[in-house]
Amino acid sequence: MRVLIAGAGIGGLTAALALHAAGIESSLVEGARELRPLGVGINLLPHAVRELTDLGLGDDLARIGVAITELNYCDRSGTTLFTEKRGLAGGYDRPQYAVHRGRLQMLLLSAVRERLGPDAVRTGVRVTGFTQDAGSVRALAGDTEIAADVLVGADGLHSAVRAQLHPRQGPLAWSGVQMWRGVTEGRPFLGGDAMLVARGAGLIARGAGSEAGLELVAYPIGPDLINWVVQVQVADPGPLPGDANWNLPGRPEDVLRHIGHWDLGLLDIPALITGSSMILEYPMVDRDPLPFWGSGRVTLLGDAAHPMYPVGANGASQAIVDARALADELARSGYPGGLTAYESTRGKATAAVIAANRELHAGAEARTPTELARITEHYRRVTGADRRRPERPQAGHS
Ligand SMILES: Cc1cc2nc3c(=O)[nH]c(=O)nc-3n(C[C@H](O)[C@H](O)[C@H](O)COP(=O)(O)OP(=O)(O)OC[C@H]3O[C@@H](n4cnc5c(N)ncnc54)[C@H](O)[C@@H]3O)c2cc1C
Repeated sequence: MRVLIAGAGIGGLTAALALHAAGIESSLVEGARELRPLGVGINLLPHAVRELTDLGLGDDLARIGVAITELNYCDRSGTTLFTEKRGLAGGYDRPQYAVHRGRLQMLLLSAVRERLGPDAVRTGVRVTGFTQDAGSVRALAGDTEIAADVLVGADGLHSAVRAQLHPRQGPLAWSGVQMWRGVTEGRPFLGGDAMLVARGAGLIARGAGSEAGLELVAYPIGPDLINWVVQVQVADPGPLPGDANWNLPGRPEDVLRHIGHWDLGLLDIPALITGSSMILEYPMVDRDPLPFWGSGRVTLLGDAAHPMYPVGANGASQAIVDARALADELARSGYPGGLTAYESTRGKATAAVIAANRELHAGAEARTPTELARITEHYRRVTGADRRRPERPQAGHS
């Protein structure tokens, strides 16, 4: 079986490695001319670290990531409201790592080139659609057609493969929250291995100039590197007007306007915001779960299948779990049974994560330790963070 993966992002690259480990041949086409270490920080939850460790990347992750041991919710004066142990400290069998997205992508890319061969990823090939019949599928990219037995659309938020499969999907769903993100050099805070979520005033302050929904998330992604995200409710939820672009530059003054006056004690907020060499602006968007993912020889993976709010740190993690499930199911049952099983399992699981992320976001007003404990416990349970994976099957079908 030959699998063609459209998109060499976190999900697509992991899928190639997982398929390789399962004895299935694959190659990737990537729309960008050159893969560069773009983005800022992301979190890999223990269920994703488990899959990457199984793929032999555990030591590399430990080298490029920071093992997060605690999530600390505090108010805008830095007073702790609630803490939750994370990763190994939280009793999981694997760590939670905070990493630079670009460094993670480069790590996965070099593992793919090393294991599948230097030509496994063809860059500058943007898939625009596909055709298929009983015998094969052809990805279309300009004048080129690339044939395969299975096509995986791992082409991210603006997936062309998804657009052909689901032409009436409409605009992205916007929470009304705008996020500004950056990475700043700075001294470690809270012991150098904690994730901080600082919240503006709660319900009482709703109304003009209120800080309800205002949130700062900060965590280390290196010994002296702090990743931060500021989330501001700037509109009512609804369809996103315009586009969502991961690389859109933002301005420090737009962030400082909202939280420049906060005094957390733990962190110098104006220095954090102005010290970032680049600020990126991005709307918090997702989509309703799809009634089905693929059709025939074509399926979806990662953001192409289930864009979700980043609030639960699950975007990259779920793409990685998809990758493992796809490889396992194709190895177990081949085509078409493997694709059906993959979509059925992962469709349900990721629909639950999309819903849980929305609930987590809606609970952004929660402030008491009891409320926060209930919300975070519910999130862990619904998203299946603790579940272990069975042994890896090997390809016996084609
Ligand atoms: C440039 C960039 C920066 C990002 N920065 C952050 C960040 O800072 N924080 C965060 O939480 N998330 C970020 N993300 C999103 C995050 O990587 C994903 O939410 C998550 O990792 C799921 O991964 P994915 O593989 O599904 O999608 P992605 O990692 O987005 O990968 C999709 C890949 O498909 C490629 N592609 C797109 N269209 C086509 C096409 N038609 N044909 C072929 N290839 C195509 C893209 O170039 C990309 O390499 C970023 C994504 C991108 C592309």
